[in-house]
Amino acid sequence: PAGPGGGGGAEHLLALDRAHVWHPYGPMPGRGEPYLVESAEGVRLRLADGRELVDGMSSWWAAIHGYRHPVLDAALADQAGRMSHVMFGGLTHEPAIRLAAELVEITPAGLEHVFLCDSGSVGVEVAIKMALQAQRALGRPERRRLATWRGGYHGDTFHPMSVCDPVGGMHSLWTGVLPAQVFAGPPPAEWDEGYATALTGMIERHSGEIAAVIVEPVVQGAGGMRFHHPEYLRVLREATAAHGIFLIFDEIATGFGRTGRFFGADHAGVSPDIMCLGKALTGGYLTLAATLCTAEVAAAISAGEGGGLAHGPTFMGNPLACAVAGASLRLLKAGDWALRVPEIEKSLKAGLEPLRGAPGVVDVRVLGAIGVVQLDRPVDMTKATAAAVAEGVWLRPFRDLIYTMPPFVTDDADVARITAGIAAAVAAS
Ligand code: PLP
Repeated sequence: PAGPGGGGGAEHLLALDRAHVWHPYGPMPGRGEPYLVESAEGVRLRLADGRELVDGMSSWWAAIHGYRHPVLDAALADQAGRMSHVMFGGLTHEPAIRLAAELVEITPAGLEHVFLCDSGSVGVEVAIKMALQAQRALGRPERRRLATWRGGYHGDTFHPMSVCDPVGGMHSLWTGVLPAQVFAGPPPAEWDEGYATALTGMIERHSGEIAAVIVEPVVQGAGGMRFHHPEYLRVLREATAAHGIFLIFDEIATGFGRTGRFFGADHAGVSPDIMCLGKALTGGYLTLAATLCTAEVAAAISAGEGGGLAHGPTFMGNPLACAVAGASLRLLKAGDWALRVPEIEKSLKAGLEPLRGAPGVVDVRVLGAIGVVQLDRPVDMTKATAAAVAEGVWLRPFRDLIYTMPPFVTDDADVARITAGIAAAVAAS
């Protein structure tokens, strides 16, 4: 039996892992074969057996500058030398203050106030709480539901789960437990006047009971890696504003340049009332999320019952995370991403388009530094992953999707390697 001692060899560690460590969406004891990573640098993950893999996943959208970036490492070390953490109730500090001010500066117009918490799902919970509290303070407590379109993903805690795609995923486990929300059909890739009318109609019909509409702008991530026409965001903006409903943009996956614009919202030039950020906020170094809102939302909450937002996590505004997030923003502001992401888009298209006619491939789509191949059947995750690893590439396919969102520092040769890894994963599925 696996015990905590032992020689520390890879086999022993993996036995302990299987015995004790939960992995995402996995059973216990573990059945899968997680790969043991020893270190990561640039765009490469080094496994315990010495193999090096080009990271096609940016650790789930997060590591946009790659690993062990000298600027981020230095920011983290510098902050660790001053103060790793301090409570945020009654105290404040420069890394959080500077980060909040910078986020207000770079996010769409009108977002003025920043709540810093510790993960994307909690950031979405905070956004929902802001909307519900503000509606209540405005004398509309019956507006408790949320509306969204199908195909979305907003996190694994309960309120975020209630606005994930209601079909498939793990939603069916929670029938009767999750709050019942209002859903439109999934947003089409192209402009469809009929869909826009249906969206507006849904919002009008339910306006008396909806506190907020929440969507991922332009790209729906873990709900199916679908892209939609940005004009639907404007339709949502107009319809929600007309009925006193708040519009929440969940930019946890799409934020910080991933889609080719700084934020997904920038494709439509639309400002939400509330916006959620996470993942790449710290360049993937530490867990941190930010929920921003307008002065109107904040004023309503602050004038309402309790006199403030009813939320306050222990690790709110963690200084290490804020310092590294500030450094990541400075790297982004220097602008290389704006040149690199279109190049990555070009290389992904060149590498993935030839798969369009391949057996079982139903769609190939690329936007910014995101490439997706959709199959006509569920992917065999173990086989597909192993095929990519054999090509020296790290991928994590799910459902019928084999996809990549590489770090922005990935060069053309490594993007070509990733697309070869995807082709191998397709062939193995
Ligand atoms: N919202 C979106 C759009 C996401 O893609 C995710 C994570 O995949 C989340 C929320 C949840 O973030 P976290 O996993 O940090 O809780």
